[in-house]
Amino acid sequence: SIPAKKVSHWKYTTCNYCSTGCSIEIGLNDEKRIVTTRGHAGADVNRGKLCIKGILEHELFESPGRGTEPLIRDKHYEKFEKTSWDNALDTTAGKIKAIQEKYGRDAFAVVSTGQLLTEEFYTLGKLTRGCIGTNNYDGNTTLCMASAVSGYKRSFGSDGPPGCYGDFEHTHCFMAFGSNLPEQHPIIYWRLKEALEKRKFPLIVVDPRVTMLAQFADIHLPITPGTDCILINSMMFVIINENLQDQAYIDAHTQGFEQIKALVQDYNPKEAQHLCGIDEDTIRNVARIYAKAPAAMSIWTMGINQSTHGSDGVANINNLNLITGNIGKPGGTSLSITGQCNAMGTREWSSCSGLPGYRYLENEADRQEIADFWRIDPEFFPKKRGLAQTDIFPAIETGEIKGMWLVATNPMTSMPNTNRIRKALEKLDFLVVQDVYEDVETNQYSHVYFPASVWAEKEGCHTNTERRVNLISNVIEPYANSKPDFWIFNQMAKRFDNGKIIHFPDTAEGAFNEMKQLSKGTTYDRPRNLDISGMSYEKLIKARGIQWPYREGDESLKGTPRLYSDGVFPTPSGKANLIPVNFYNNNEQPCADYPFWLNSGRVVEHFHTRTRTGKIGNCNKFSPTPYMEMNPDAAKELGIEHQSYVRLTSRRGDAVVMVQLTQRVSRNMVFIPFHFHDCVNRLTLGLLDPYSRQPAFKQGSVRIEPVDQL
Ligand code: SF4
Repeated sequence: SIPAKKVSHWKYTTCNYCSTGCSIEIGLNDEKRIVTTRGHAGADVNRGKLCIKGILEHELFESPGRGTEPLIRDKHYEKFEKTSWDNALDTTAGKIKAIQEKYGRDAFAVVSTGQLLTEEFYTLGKLTRGCIGTNNYDGNTTLCMASAVSGYKRSFGSDGPPGCYGDFEHTHCFMAFGSNLPEQHPIIYWRLKEALEKRKFPLIVVDPRVTMLAQFADIHLPITPGTDCILINSMMFVIINENLQDQAYIDAHTQGFEQIKALVQDYNPKEAQHLCGIDEDTIRNVARIYAKAPAAMSIWTMGINQSTHGSDGVANINNLNLITGNIGKPGGTSLSITGQCNAMGTREWSSCSGLPGYRYLENEADRQEIADFWRIDPEFFPKKRGLAQTDIFPAIETGEIKGMWLVATNPMTSMPNTNRIRKALEKLDFLVVQDVYEDVETNQYSHVYFPASVWAEKEGCHTNTERRVNLISNVIEPYANSKPDFWIFNQMAKRFDNGKIIHFPDTAEGAFNEMKQLSKGTTYDRPRNLDISGMSYEKLIKARGIQWPYREGDESLKGTPRLYSDGVFPTPSGKANLIPVNFYNNNEQPCADYPFWLNSGRVVEHFHTRTRTGKIGNCNKFSPTPYMEMNPDAAKELGIEHQSYVRLTSRRGDAVVMVQLTQRVSRNMVFIPFHFHDCVNRLTLGLLDPYSRQPAFKQGSVRIEPVDQL
């Protein structure tokens, strides 16, 4: 890219794409314009490395489609007109109040993202609950990590991934469920590869597709989609019946073992093999390797979470690790690999299912504590869980939700069954879209548009996959008349009555200091896990990120690499819950009319709905269009050729896409990257996990026919 000599100085910050949390330095020229990026060599996470997205991140600051001014629809609702910030904010606040006066407070919903800074999530949560007065507020967690959140809470009593990347260097067995690290989290993969090169240990990959990670695996388990619970129960059958479990750990630190032991007797590998597609010997072999390893770890991503039984899948991975004593020890852990850069921040500080600092909405003491801290009447405070993002759109269809504020999220591309989403957006009385880019697809349906600043134009924190809080620096001034999301939320708060009572700090650091105060305290008389009270912006820069809990008075800069090392869990008994998980088949299955499984996922060059990477030259050059992976034998039967076009049809809609013949997928499965607009999510299934409300993106079915031309 730009020769180093054109860089006059470097500024430290953190990458704003995925949850790996790579430390980067941004190179500025004499005119203070961003010209390049490089990995920070002193950072523990990435040790100087970046993936293609991080390397090219400097290209997005002045890319086409950036919002420059607030916009409002003309009176015929035909086109956008430029307006002032005051008018855009006043109009929006007025519309929210009018809708709430007519239909009640819960007729308005707010949906945000995993891309904002933690202080912004905290502030938006405060505004939504404390001022607007609804708990219909959700983030993209519901499309991404909600099943992990729910599974952690059910097993351990609290959200929060217990492990860290450092565990790769200690583990003796690494098992990945539905996670393709080389494409989704390339720098985490690089950390794993380094550990594997230094110290050989078995790499076991569970994935219906031969992903890049599966190609490098010692054992690849090409499982039938949606049957992870059968595989894990069957592994536990072998472990328990061969007495390979860690009984001392089970007795001291868990509850529910007898129920698990009874349940897994129904999952003898002899029978289970016919349900999950993995042969009996392999199940037995993998179970023995895992249980006999001095330390074994499991990671997972969307292959587990995006399912109608995602929460159960997570709980069952936790079961496997609890019965083998693999929680809280170096190399022995459950570790969800989060999607967006700050999905953890939204989980920690605001979502429809919880209160700041992992407090529980249903808990009166938790609600009172927050209401007192914000100095509002606890009666104003929403008392029950609000609607998740995936329930908000159906509530628009039924008329319960009349207005919505979308912040840095693009449901017209990211949600399943986008035909249904389009109709819902068209039905809204009022929609405000807040995004860095005004050409984001969902903005076609908005009444007001707020142009937001991009991450390096503002200050605050992210939390990465391993609970590491990293600082984001405001490297340059906001572009044109865009504003930091933090500023927009503060300005909106001033337009509500409670906004005059609740204190909204002027700076991100002020909000961070409030969060530090709120993070102190106890859960069931034990120190709160999510304690950041010992952190400061200065310490975060010095340490290149600190993992929570990090308590007041701690000057070590080391943080906490692992949770539950003492075997004590934030449950009433202090013990982890072993949760019996039975398999139930409620997914759409391939059938005569729709004979192929439809699988979707990511490519390394693109991030989410391409609002940013779609504007970066080399990302597009290497991944210019959507494509469909298809097995050559299946293609031959249908007369389909490599690089020809086909039409896919599901019960939800259809899409036309180019074919790539490959052995990566089996005869009855096709795979399409999810990043592209008007493509795979026209087809995907909207069935939800009952606990997390996360959709099953990966388990629909389609039929395929050749098309002559586009
Ligand atoms: Fe950024 Fe993730 Fe790539 Fe690291 S791995 S550079 S955090 S996109």
